[in-house]
This record gives sequence, C-alpha cells and structure tokens, in this order.
Amino acid sequence: VYEQKIEDLSIHDPLTGIYNRRYIFERFEEIMAEFSRTGKIFSVTILDIDFFKKINDEFGHLAGDFILKSFAAMISVNLRPYDLFGRYGGEEFIIISLNSTREQTLGTIKRLLEMVRQKVFKFNNSEIRFTFSAGISDSQEYPGNRLTSEMIIDTADCRLYQAKGSGRNRIVVSVSSVDGEPK
Ligand code: GH3
Ligand code: MG
Ligand code: MG
Repeated sequence: VYEQKIEDLSIHDPLTGIYNRRYIFERFEEIMAEFSRTGKIFSVTILDIDFFKKINDEFGHLAGDFILKSFAAMISVNLRPYDLFGRYGGEEFIIISLNSTREQTLGTIKRLLEMVRQKVFKFNNSEIRFTFSAGISDSQEYPGNRLTSEMIIDTADCRLYQAKGSGRNRIVVSVSSVDGEPK
C-alpha cells in the first residue's frame, strides 16, 4: 500500500487525481516510438479553461480548485478508457487519443465543450459557469517529416492560441477550420 502511494504521487496530479505532466510526457515518448514502428495514428488535444482567473477572483481560490477537480472528473468519465488524459499546467489539460484522427477527436471534444457550456457548477452558494478553448493536431499532419512530440504539441498549442485569439469557447483543428463556435 505504501509503495502504491508513492507510485500514485509520481504519476498523478494531487489536486485532480488525473495523470501529471511528467507521466504524460513519458507515455508520449512511448507512443512516438510505437508510431515510428507502426505508423498508427493518434491525436493530441490541449484544452485551456477560459477566463479561469476571473473564477478565482470572483469566487475564491477554493472555488477555482473545485472547478479544476470537477472539470477533470467530467472529462475523465467521458473519454475512452485508452485515451490518456492529464494536467498539462495550471488550468490546461492534455488528451492523447490513440487510433483517432483529429477530425474524429474533434467530435469528442465538441461534445465535451457542449456539456461544459450547459453545466452549472455549484460550489457553496455560488453557481459557476465557464467554457474552454482547445487546439487539436494529429500524427498524419507531417507527411515526409520525422515526427517529434514537440512538433505535434507545438501545433496543438498554436491552434489553442488561435482559438483564444478568435474569441475563446471554441476548438481549432486546422488553419482554416474553427469549430464548435457558439451559435
Ligand atoms: P484565458 O481565457 O486567456 O485562458 O484566461 P485565464 O484567466 O484562464 O488564463 P490566465 O493564464 O490569465 O490565468 C490562469 C489562472 O489560473 C492564474 C492562476 O492563478 C490560476 N491557477 C493555476 N493553477 C491553479 C490551481 O491549482 N488552483 C487555482 N484555484 N487556480 C490556479
Ligand atoms: Mg492557461
Ligand atoms: Mg485559461
């Protein structure tokens, strides 16, 4: 049990209980190695909660923590068991979806965004609503190049930045395609 606890702390984020950044990067390198052998497709999504600082400012840091936990739990139960989901930074999360193109992953992330938009999170006497932005890239986007984990993460990050810059509350999967814009 003691050893299990140490193992848990080394791979899990203590606040949300999902995988930590270090573990995700370890697994990512394994997935890259498998990709170079088999060419099996996978996609990477980076999600960032919109205006999270305002949640902390308006409702307090504990409410912010509660939102991070609730959000992580909500995403976890709605992913496939073999998707890798981790905390990438403060209010940023990463999903590695095996055997899924970015168009396929987009379907899942759109569904999640719609769920988050509809949800009212209750903390003490406060009702908190929020949205997120996301960028997605996949392993098929670099024909003829030797793919590295940096390339695929940088692309997803860049698209997340575009999603933020074009109004937040949306998902970007390619230069010309912004998805899940609020109606
Ligand atoms: P944007 O829509 O551009 O993403 O704006 P934002 O406010 O979400 O982003 P910004 O990077 O300005 O602020 C992120 C905030 O997240 C700042 C930091 O204090 C807060 N934060 C980071 N980690 C934690 C945490 O573990 N708990 C709480 N409560 N807040 C956190
Ligand atoms: Mg952020
Ligand atoms: Mg944010």
